[in-house]
Amino acid sequence: ATPTALLVGTGRGAQMGILIKGPEVLESTRRVDTVVLDKTGTVTTGRMSLAHVHTSDGVSEEDALRMAAALEHASEHPIAKAITAAVADVPAVTDFKNLEGLGVQGVVGGKLVVVGRAGLVDTISDDLLNAKEVAERKGHTAVLVAWDGRAQAVLSVADTVKPTSAEAVRGLRALGLNPVLLTGDNEATARNVAAEVGIGTVIAEVLPKDKVDVVRRLQAEGHVVAMVGDGVNDAAALAQSDLGLAMGTGTDVAIEASDLTLVRGDLRSATDAIRLARRTLGTIK
Ligand code: ADP
Ligand code: MG
Repeated sequence: ATPTALLVGTGRGAQMGILIKGPEVLESTRRVDTVVLDKTGTVTTGRMSLAHVHTSDGVSEEDALRMAAALEHASEHPIAKAITAAVADVPAVTDFKNLEGLGVQGVVGGKLVVVGRAGLVDTISDDLLNAKEVAERKGHTAVLVAWDGRAQAVLSVADTVKPTSAEAVRGLRALGLNPVLLTGDNEATARNVAAEVGIGTVIAEVLPKDKVDVVRRLQAEGHVVAMVGDGVNDAAALAQSDLGLAMGTGTDVAIEASDLTLVRGDLRSATDAIRLARRTLGTIK
């Protein structure tokens, strides 16, 4: 590709809300065959809301929510916002700890409280386990609230698929690319979202620090990987990808780690970007 053609392509991208770090970035799209899509905030809006609360006998919904909110008050996770929004008077927490990609823990009213993924809690009743499965089958994220050494409640937290995500995935396929959904969320929830937007390959329950290894593994298998993400937990994987695309609505760390920024936070821009790059490279041969 001639420098002029690349510059023209870069300029056209800017008009479409696609910010390209340098003209050479367009070249790296040439052989991309796999597009890894982060779930929360990329395929979905990431604006979560509390859909349902299920408690064990003797525990009120209010108590379960207050315990959870006490911890989530100190967290920046989208799940945390959904839970704190549902509680007016949030109790104080001490010894707060963020369990990256798993949940949060701390001491509330003298009790050690853990909030997050099922794997964090050893003891869970069949009733709560059932509530967890019901939530996940709906595509919600089941958040366990535990104290006194066992699960006391399941909070069902709902995210929404962006209205343009399914069209974006169809567009990626039309370009001959294979979309892969990557998330720290549980398998059932991830499959639900994947089915809604037409993605067949799901890699779920991946810890933030392990997302980069998923990209490395795909590359080791011979794939040329583009990745679209928005979170702090996506940054390393975005940097490792052959082409990193950050949602403009995402974190600064993700944007810095990427080759391309999708200003509108619309997944269709990812398809547009790859199509634009191919056209730019094609026209000049
Ligand atoms: P994603 O890859 O979808 O952005 P994360 O890696 O941030 O997800 O988190 C993975 C999972 O860990 C979440 O789906 C949730 O079940 C749990 N989790 C993480 N942080 C929290 C939190 N603050 N409160 C409750 N659950 C959490
Ligand atoms: Mg995300």
